[in-house]
Amino acid sequence: MATTKKKRPKMKLQCEVCKKVNYHTNKTQEMIVAGTKMSLKKFCKSCRKHTVHKEGKK
Ligand SMILES: [Zn+2]
Repeated sequence: MATTKKKRPKMKLQCEVCKKVNYHTNKTQEMIVAGTKMSLKKFCKSCRKHTVHKEGKK
């Protein structure tokens, strides 16, 4: 029985300050539907502080 795997688009979360990709996450359906670019405050190891992380380009 063949199961159809739904593609889950991967997303990079890139630090706005140093442009380093610190997190990888899967896009949720809601995010895709909304079509908005995420921006989250996350901890950046390079900056050693919480910075804004945005969806990184491929
Ligand atoms: Zn950073």
